Amino acid sequence: MFKLPELPYAFNALEPYIDARTMEIHHNKHHQAYVDNLNAALKDFPALQQKSISELMIDLDNLPEKIQTAVRNNGGGHYNHSFFWPLMTGKGTGKPLEKSGQAIANTFGSFDEFQKLFNEAAKSRFGSGWAWLVYNPQGDLEVISTANQDCPLAAGFAPVLGLDVWEHAYYLKYQNKRVDYIQAWWHVVNWSVVEDIFRKI
Ligand code: MN
Repeated sequence: MFKLPELPYAFNALEPYIDARTMEIHHNKHHQAYVDNLNAALKDFPALQQKSISELMIDLDNLPEKIQTAVRNNGGGHYNHSFFWPLMTGKGTGKPLEKSGQAIANTFGSFDEFQKLFNEAAKSRFGSGWAWLVYNPQGDLEVISTANQDCPLAAGFAPVLGLDVWEHAYYLKYQNKRVDYIQAWWHVVNWSVVEDIFRKI
């Protein structure tokens, strides 16, 4: 059985950039629903229940066809949100640290250039989805976006930073102004967690 991970901070920790009510509903309702629906999809597959969520995502194409869509959507939702929560903090430093900062500058020219690309990916994702900074299968950093709850792991990418741009992530506070939410989000990025991810990859 997969379980909803606890938020590593209080619902109001990201105020004023992301409001407490949004965080509470996003975590307790939306993420919980992905977990519940994933468990329901795997009900008759005890061997798959033993796998980690990363293993399920990497192996998505080989799962039994009748549960593939449910695992893609709900397993993706569970993976993506579990990855997303620790990427935020009320004590954001605004800029990446050593290794991540260097890698980003080396690939994109500068942090500002990277941010522009990422913002564009987040803004232009039509409908619901995510923007990501990933390592691609060639081992290079790349900015991508995915639709719905599609997980970068399932496409061979290793995520290092991700932003949820579903309306449920921002609508209460920002309504239709996704760009304002994206701008605000940079204030709460936990660059020390991103640095740890870079050091492990
Ligand atoms: Mn979400």
